[in-house]
Amino acid sequence: PAGEVIPSEPVRDEYEQLVDDVRRYRFAYYNEDQPLVSDAEFDELYRRLEELEQLHPEIVANDSPTQEVGGEVSAAFAPVDHPSRMYSLEDVFSLEELRAWLEKAAANAAVQAPAEELRWLCEVKIDGLAVNLLYRDGKLVRAATRGDGTTGEDVTHNVLTIRSIPRELSGSGWPTEVEIRGEVFIPSQAFHEFNRALVEAGKAQLANPRNAAAGSLRQKDPAETAKRPLEMYVHGIGAREGLSAASQAETYGLLEGWGLPVSPYTRVVETLEGVLGYIGEYEGRRHGLIHEIDGIVAKADSFAIQRALGYTSRVPRWSVAYKYPPEEVHTRLLDIRVNV
Ligand code: NAD
Repeated sequence: PAGEVIPSEPVRDEYEQLVDDVRRYRFAYYNEDQPLVSDAEFDELYRRLEELEQLHPEIVANDSPTQEVGGEVSAAFAPVDHPSRMYSLEDVFSLEELRAWLEKAAANAAVQAPAEELRWLCEVKIDGLAVNLLYRDGKLVRAATRGDGTTGEDVTHNVLTIRSIPRELSGSGWPTEVEIRGEVFIPSQAFHEFNRALVEAGKAQLANPRNAAAGSLRQKDPAETAKRPLEMYVHGIGAREGLSAASQAETYGLLEGWGLPVSPYTRVVETLEGVLGYIGEYEGRRHGLIHEIDGIVAKADSFAIQRALGYTSRVPRWSVAYKYPPEEVHTRLLDIRVNV
């Protein structure tokens, strides 16, 4: 068509190289729990890929990594379809970008859900891996990794070894079928103790808590998983027909009552300035928390607003992750070898 800009050969070459690299790095990260590059390097490549696609929309492949949630299902586990889809999160890397994102979301919410009051639910972004817990009649019947968002890996037997995840919900009022989403992680202190014990036993250490958590949850033998100090905090809910709560924060209150572990770091704020204040506070506190974080997440708290704003093929339009600037690019690269 007239006016179409044909991307030059070098642009195509760069694009194809980026797509290849992102695929390869994702595979190593999600399927092998053995990253080949640091998160900061990965994020930079991914951003460049997004930038090229914005500059040259005509080169965007249908199966571009920017159009999908980035995990595949490994053949080592049985595939499970999630009753409702799981998503990734839109990342921003500066406070200006965050401000622009929040202002736009607020403007959209004012048009699409005018009767609803917008509040931001602020959470820390736990550096672990997502798990989807399906409770039927109050009993944990299945646990799965996120996978590509539609289909995850069946890790039920491994999840059953995590003591803080209840096999049966307590209290009452839970829907007949409810999907609880959370992040499985290894607490920082437990991680150091576990590594110290490995050194004393003359074994190789685990590289970092995130990959150690992922590798521990994705063991073939649940008896191995049981030896790892895994924990989980809830950060979302999927299928939940019949649940009466009107907001995510209210839902966390219910989940806590049912015996599920909720994060102690969550806070609801009224304004954009409140979100920025939360970010500043946790930037100072981040190394004193129970687990590692790589940023904070702001979510529109009201379910009516969440429904009105909806999703892209990859992320919710009602939630954003702000990533703290990387601090450990060099050390990460040195101890990248993971023993899981
Ligand atoms: P993401 O990690 O940016 O965000 C989505 C995930 O955040 C969710 O699935 C959930 O598991 C998690 N999360 C943690 N706390 C949360 C909270 N409070 N609320 C909601 N979700 C929360 O997206 P992604 O698609 O999983 O992958 C991108 C991340 O993985 C980036 O950080 C990237 O650097 C890293 N990565 C690294 C490599 C590598 O080679 N080093 C490769 C692929 C991905």
